Order: sequence, then structure tokens, then C-alpha cells
Amino acid sequence: MSLLQNLDNKLEGELALLVVVGSVNTDLVVHTPQFPVPGETRLGSEFQLFPGGKGANQAVAAARLGARVALVGKVGHDEFGHQALANLQQEGLDTTHVSQHPAAASGVAVITIDAQGQNTIVVAPGANHELLPTDLDQAVALLEQAAYLVVQLEIPLPTVVYLVKWAQRRGKPVVLNPAPALPLPDAVYRDLFLLTPNETEAQVLTGIPVQDLDSARAAAQVLRERGVQNVVITLGAQGAFLHTATYTGLVPAPRVEAIDTTAAGDVFTGALAVALTQGQDWEQAASFACQAAALAVTRPGAQASIPYQHELVSP
Ligand code: ADP
Repeated sequence: MSLLQNLDNKLEGELALLVVVGSVNTDLVVHTPQFPVPGETRLGSEFQLFPGGKGANQAVAAARLGARVALVGKVGHDEFGHQALANLQQEGLDTTHVSQHPAAASGVAVITIDAQGQNTIVVAPGANHELLPTDLDQAVALLEQAAYLVVQLEIPLPTVVYLVKWAQRRGKPVVLNPAPALPLPDAVYRDLFLLTPNETEAQVLTGIPVQDLDSARAAAQVLRERGVQNVVITLGAQGAFLHTATYTGLVPAPRVEAIDTTAAGDVFTGALAVALTQGQDWEQAASFACQAAALAVTRPGAQASIPYQHELVSP
């Protein structure tokens, strides 16, 4: 990003727009004393339903943390789709380009949790996998207004590749959170402003098992050599390792008592994007993201755990 663009973002302050292109899911959760074996039926607890999806989580995080946010995504024309849209609107997101597919079901994640807190998750992407390059063409006027674009891998890879190419031509910085972990085409790397893998994702992308600072540094170096401008590898309770244009090193996470780390990575990426739109430098931005994610892991749930701006020291 040029200094001038950075300054523009600063001058625009809160008006800078973040556009998230990504998934919208509904999490269907049942607790069970023990997982059933194939063919077995078990009685579980009361059924719970939560808004989710990495795109929606990151968009909600960014909105709660003070950014102006629009989401581009797709849900079904069904009850979960209507509810998901209502939830996103309640969070203050611009959902003009969250369309409803006439035939595909809304994305769901079917989650069972046993007495030990282990989970099994089956994701049925449904309408998320119908988010196509033509949907991006239809949203082009919105994409043009974005200070930053944020995208993950729960939508079709060709749509991600199309977005990244378009953004490169337009000089729009793209933040890619490469989750769930998938190998990426070589051409994607050199068009990315920022990549935010966790340890597992960094390993899938580079082949380097990331367990500590040295391996994080080595993986980040490989990703920079492929052309990514800035790399931030999240390291759970340790914080995040940055390999960026202006800062390389660990930004430590605050020490907290973690009770539920669901969506920690989503909060981190959403918060980091907010801080960048506000013109923060890399170290400040990552420290803000670590604060936001640390607060989220002290509370139960995914979107329910996402903090608001007033709960944090402003970036
Ligand atoms: P993911 O949720 O994608 O697996 P991480 O586990 O790396 O990603 O967590 C993302 C970020 O959340 C970390 O960089 C850190 O800032 C924060 N975080 C996660 N777990 C903890 C923890 N136990 N204590 C403090 N912060 C945490």
C-alpha cells in the first residue's frame, strides 16, 4: 500500500469501507454424552442454532470493532437464509450483495460436542458454493468503494482467484485468511496484500510444520518469496508472527484464561483489517487484533464472543 493511500484512509477515518467476500452459515449444535457410532442413535441435549460462517464472522467482527462493512455472499431462500440476513443487518452490515439462491439450501455446519468438549463438524456449504465470479461482477460498484477487501476459502476457489485478480488490476489491497486450509494456485500469492494463516494453514501452504517462532519465520519467508506483500501467522496463545514490509517479529497475545477458542482466527483477521483501514502501523494493528481475539476466547460461542469497540483500547 502506498503512503498516499494510507493517508487517504486516515483522512477518511471511519468512512473507509471494508468489503468482506465470504461464507454465511448457520451452526446447528447438539451436545451428546458420547458420540454415536455409525448406525447408532443417541439422545442429546437441547438443539442450539447460532449464526456462523467465516465470512460472516469476520464481517461482524469488523463491524463491532468500528468499521463500515459490507458483505458479499450467498444464502438460500429458506428459513436459515432469512435468519442469517436478518442477523447480519442487525449487526449493521450492508447486505445489499448477500443474495438468496432460489434453489440451493443455506450453508450449515452440523456440530456435535461430547462431554469432554470434543467436537465433530460436518459443513454443508450449500449456497456458499454458488457464490460465483458473476456475483462479483454484479457487486463491482461496491467493490470499487472498498479500502480493503477481505476473503477466506469457504467460497469457491475460482471466485477467490477472480476477486484477487480484479483487485490487483484496481490496486485494491486484498486480505486473504486461507481457511479452511487449501493449497492455492501460485498466481494468487503475488497479488495479495496480506495473508493471515494459522499454524495448520501455514503448514498446508508451505509444507513447513509451524510450531514455534523459528518455523513461523521460515514459513512466512517462503510466503513472502512467493510474492505476498505481508504475512501474519497466528500462533494461538503465543500471539502472531509478522513478516511485513515494515515490521518482522512476534506480537504477543495478552495472557487470558481461554474457555472457547472458536472463531479466534476470524476475530483476529476482522480486527486486523479494521486497524489497517484506520491507518495503524503493523505492530499496532496486530496488537489490536491480539487484544480483540484474546477477549473473544474468554467467552463462549462464535459470533456471541466477538467484542465491541468500546471493550478494547482503540487502535
Ligand atoms: P485459529 O482460531 O484460526 O486456529 P489461532 O488459534 O492462531 O487461530 O488464534 C488466532 C488468534 O487468537 C491468535 O493469534 C491470538 O491472538 C488469539 N488467541 C487464540 N488463542 C488464544 C489464547 N489461548 N490466549 C490469548 N489469545 C489467543
